[in-house]
Amino acid sequence: MHNCRNNLPKKILQWYDNNKRSLPWRVKFKSPKMLYYRLLSEFMLQQTQVKTVIPYFKKFTKKINNLKKLSTTSERNVLKLWEGLGYYRRAKNLLSTSKILIKKYDAKLPKKIEEIKKLPGIGEYTSNVLLALIHNKAAIAVDGNVKRVFTRLYFGNKKDVNIKEFIDKNKKSFYSRKRNSDYVEALMEFGALICNARDPKCSICELKSMCKYYKQGRKHSLRISKISKEKKFNIYCYLDKKHKKIALTRKNKLGFLDNFYLPSVKESSYKNKNWNYLCSYKNTISNTKMNIKLYYKFSSKIPQDFGWYSLGKNKAFIPTFTKKIFKRVSVVY
Ligand code: SF4
Repeated sequence: MHNCRNNLPKKILQWYDNNKRSLPWRVKFKSPKMLYYRLLSEFMLQQTQVKTVIPYFKKFTKKINNLKKLSTTSERNVLKLWEGLGYYRRAKNLLSTSKILIKKYDAKLPKKIEEIKKLPGIGEYTSNVLLALIHNKAAIAVDGNVKRVFTRLYFGNKKDVNIKEFIDKNKKSFYSRKRNSDYVEALMEFGALICNARDPKCSICELKSMCKYYKQGRKHSLRISKISKEKKFNIYCYLDKKHKKIALTRKNKLGFLDNFYLPSVKESSYKNKNWNYLCSYKNTISNTKMNIKLYYKFSSKIPQDFGWYSLGKNKAFIPTFTKKIFKRVSVVY
């Protein structure tokens, strides 16, 4: 049996108290800002790194400083503040969640995980994080970071261990008795700063004496990351020469960027002779590495579902992905 009597919560919390970063969403437990800040940061941090999120979080909270205000903000304004952060569905879900929390739960987070999971954009992982953070409940959110830390500590270099099951079986050893809110953060912080995927800082790690991975002398490998696939796309732009406009549609069925204003985007690797080739470039979006060939044609006729948009300012929300296309096609006018 694994020796779990190493008092992991105490050690991790000790490390955290001395080493935690000061992040704008880390407010005091039970602060009135807590729920709003945590909700917003958790949504922003999905698929995105801390350092990228910080300026967006600051900008967002400067304009919208509480949950109630968010719930009455228009989707367009929320998306404007989210602009550049990507994965825009998160912003839409955040807005829907804020409305439900205000209307149904009196601006509080429900206490049952089943109810938290029903909120838009909140899955197993985020609901566990919020349960621990906001209600100080014993819940460990197992993401890549936490999985890696537990695997290394107790199983060394072994892969495919069911860490969630392992934690569930050893609850008494792995949950903090009093500080679950800090503990869930401490684990994530430890995974990000010390026991990181590429270069674990074993030499300065305060847990090395109890770490199987360290004892095995395997400092490297063991990476848990999703490698995104590279796919080829053709993008076709209808351009209005006289008015310097471009035709966009929200009807591209790509699975990502659904419902956003884009030119026609097709997954294809073929050259299309009916269109003028402009350039090739790469753009990574929602875990897809897009290898893009950009085509254009001047035309006054555009397909149904398309409308004309300015290459300058528009009332509609234009995602960064499309704005990059604006820049590229602007050279042909
Ligand atoms: S000793 Fe190295 S592998 Fe083990 S927990 Fe610390 S940083 Fe991670």
